Formats: sequence, structure tokens, C-alpha cells
Amino acid sequence: MSSSLATVSYIGAIILFILSLGGLSNPESSRRGNLYGMIGMTIAVLATVFGPRVTMAGLPWIIGAMLVGGSVGLYAARKVQMTQMPELVALMHSLVGLAAMLVGFANYIDPMAALNLSAAEKSIHEMEVYLGILIGAITLAGSLIAFGKLSGKIGGKPLLLPGRHFMNLAGLLVVIAFGWQFMHVETISSGMTALTVMTVIALLFGIHMVMAIGGADMPVVVSMLNSYSGWAAAATGFMLNNDLLIVVGALVGSSGAILSYIMCRAMNRNFISVIAGGFGGGAKPTKKADGDAAPVGEVVAISAAETAELLLDAKNVIIVPGYGMAVAQAQHTVNEITKLLREKGVNVRFGIHPVAGRMPGHMNVLLAEARVPYDIVMEMDELNADFPDTDVSIVIGANDIVNPAAQDDPTSPIAGMPVLEVWKAKTSIVMKRSMASGYAGVDNPLFYKENNRMLFGDAKKMLDEVLTALKAQ
Ligand code: NDP
Repeated sequence: MSSSLATVSYIGAIILFILSLGGLSNPESSRRGNLYGMIGMTIAVLATVFGPRVTMAGLPWIIGAMLVGGSVGLYAARKVQMTQMPELVALMHSLVGLAAMLVGFANYIDPMAALNLSAAEKSIHEMEVYLGILIGAITLAGSLIAFGKLSGKIGGKPLLLPGRHFMNLAGLLVVIAFGWQFMHVETISSGMTALTVMTVIALLFGIHMVMAIGGADMPVVVSMLNSYSGWAAAATGFMLNNDLLIVVGALVGSSGAILSYIMCRAMNRNFISVIAGGFGGGAKPTKKADGDAAPVGEVVAISAAETAELLLDAKNVIIVPGYGMAVAQAQHTVNEITKLLREKGVNVRFGIHPVAGRMPGHMNVLLAEARVPYDIVMEMDELNADFPDTDVSIVIGANDIVNPAAQDDPTSPIAGMPVLEVWKAKTSIVMKRSMASGYAGVDNPLFYKENNRMLFGDAKKMLDEVLTALKAQ
């Protein structure tokens, strides 16, 4: 392929990626957005592999690597459950970080990479290598810890080392000092020493940064690592002089940064404070409600048949789905119940919290998959004021996002986080298997409120029973 054809293909791919991002911003156009992204990526890969910079001798290696990578990707996509998606994404981010790191090292020791460069160009090249490896190492280590936390292999409680801010600052100063030294070394081997020291510090910083973040603030970290992986890819693009990688990296980096900002706003958090760590997990994560601050009141259970009766008597119903709906794969039954109630004239709407589930847009994806009409799926801010006029609010496998402690208890790890005020409805029904806490590990006083009822059991099983009871009426 000629270099001009490769350039045209790259421009086409970039346009498709931008269209893809545009499409993904709305559930109705998201399938089209995905399609644009897939076509763009196919063009990008073909233009790179058959482009002017790959020699015939290198082709078998690339095709071999693509076969291995493609098979692993295909296997993971088929095998991974929807609920494991966030972990998979975190793992993918770590690979982007690893790639940026390895490309950086390979680029530095490659004698051809800096050949014929002027002194200024050489300095810029070295800076790209240093920054690329730095961002790559932080992304790699941070994403692996995020994977551990999201999959439950590492506890959600923040690790708060004494003097942690001082440690971070000291690490930053050492990285800057070694960066200065790296830019002025004579030989590649002394440059490698500076690079290695910086890489170790960056890896430790990545681990420390994510370990210090508590359960409830993980959404911000996930989107932030998404952004980092974009910047790591852009840095790789600079090292390899690949314009497509620079643009795509910048797109991912900036959209991830915007998402982090949106997540922070949704959780009423200051971005810098979240990164500095220590939020969202100060309470006793797994301890049951038995301390001074334990919620008071009686827990009242309800049956599926009674739930069906309440729903049929209601005029206005708000359904709040959470992570448990994803685990139980109950979205299709939820849609059946919604259809049936709407046919009977009940006004049914869905309230979606920005951090419900385990990834941004998690609930929207599930409800869209079950074909719940988009116009009754509302954002938290759109319907939070309507709960006092609601007869029944029904919480399906959600916990943290409906926890009144966020408003009432300033000492709670989730204090200040906006929540869906389901308890303001005439009756609230919470569907979950036990009294266990949610991801943030915080007790939920909602369960003890006078107007609250608990429908204990697996969400899919209980909803099937509710549907049967509704049909029998
Ligand atoms: P939570 O984790 O707070 O609660 C989910 C509840 O679902 C649990 O309490 C559990 O209770 C219940 N559950 C689990 N399995 C089932 C089942 N099969 N049937 C019925 N219930 C079930 O989820 P929320 O959606 O309310 O809140 C999301 C949390 O995740 C927030 O803390 C958020 O910060 C965090 N988070 C969000 C991310 C995002 O991007 N959206 C990313 C990372 C973290 P029980 O065991 O008793 O059944």
C-alpha cells in the first residue's frame, strides 16, 4: 500500500472514530456508533499492517501476533459475563499501559529511532519516551489494582499509608530529577538506569493511587484509568510517529477525562481529592449494623404476591435498578412487568443513578438490551423530585445508590453523594437476597424505614414470581 493511500485510510478511520464516539453518546444511536468504530478499526489495522512502514519480513510476525491476540479477545468476549465487563475493561487498560511501556523501552534502545535527529528533535524524542513510559507504567499498575478491586480479589477499603501525600510528592520529585538526568546522559545504558528507576516509582505510584481509593469512589478511578490509557496510546503514537495513534489516543484520553468529571459531579466529589485518595470506605465495610450509628427500626419482609398487589393498586411506579439486576440478569422480566403494568394504565418509569452497577451506563445497556422504551428511562436528576408523588418505588438489586445515609449521616463514607430518594414514595420495596451491604460496604438505613418492605431473594426469581402473580390477577 502506498503511503498516500495509507494516509487517506488513516483520515477515514479517524472520521469513523469520531462518528463512533458521537453515536455512543445516545442509546438509540449506540449500535451505529459501535459499527462505525469496528469499521474504523478494521481500516486502521489494515492500513498499518499493509502500509509502507511494515516490511515483508515483519508481516508473518504481525499476523502471528494478531492471530494470538484476536483469539484471546474472541475467547474473552464470548466467555465474560456482562457483570464481569468492568474487570475486563480494567484489564484491557492495563494492556495499553504495558504496550506504551514496552514501546518506550524498545524505542529508546533502538539505534535507528534517533538516527539523523537534530539535537532539539532528539530531546523531544527522549521526552516522549520518558513521558510515554511514565504514563504507561502508572496505567498498567493502576489498572491491575482496579481489576483486583472490581473483581473482589482485593478489598474495597482504602489503604491509607501514613504520610501518603508526602510519599507521592517525594516520588514526583524523584521522577522529575531522573527525567532531567535522563535528558542529559551520554550513553544508552546510563539512560536505562534513569528509565528503570522512574518505571519502578511509576508502578508503585499506580498501585498506591488506586489502593488508596475506597469502594464508592471506584467509578471515578475506572474512568480516569480509561483516560490514562488514551494518553498512553497517544504517547506511543508520538514515539512511533503514528498520527492515527496520536489522534485516537487523544480522543480516548479526553473523553475519559470528561467522563471522570461527569462521574465526580454525579458523586459530588472533588476530582483532586479522589485522586489523592482516602475517600469512600472509611466505615467498617463488612461489619453488620450493630454499632452506635447502626440504623434503627424494624425490617419488614413482603411476598411476591403482596408486591404484585401493591403494584396493581399504584398509579405511579418508579423502578430503580442496580448491580443486583445485572447479576441476576433480571432485565427481561423487568421489561415484561413494565409492559403489563403499563397496559393496565400504571405510569411506570425507571430512575437511573449515574454510578449504578459497575460501569458507566451499565443499567442503560441492560434496559436497552431488554427493549425497555427509552422515553421512560430517566436520569436521577430528572425524576428525583417526583418520589413524593409516587405510590411504589421498587429497588431491584441496588443498595448504595438509594442509601439515605448519604444525606443524613455526615460521617458516612458516601456522605454527600446524591442518591435516588426512593424512601419518599408512599411505599418502597427493596429486592435483594439478604441484608448485606453494597459495593461501598455501608449499612443502609432505608431497609429499616417504616414505609419500606424487603422482598428477599434473587432478583430474577422474585420478579418471575411477581410477574406470575400479576398475570393471575
Ligand atoms: P451495590 O453494589 O450498592 O448493591 C448491589 C446490591 O445487589 C447488593 O447489596 C446485593 O445485595 C444485591 N444483589 C446482588 N446479587 C443479587 C441478585 N442476584 N439478586 C438480587 N439482588 C442482588 O450496587 P448499586 O448499583 O446500588 O451501586 C453501585 C456501586 O458500585 C456504588 O457504590 C458505585 O460507586 C460502585 N461502582 C460503580 C461503578 C460504575 O461505573 N457504575 C464502577 C465501580 C464501582 P444481596 O447480596 O443482599 O443480594
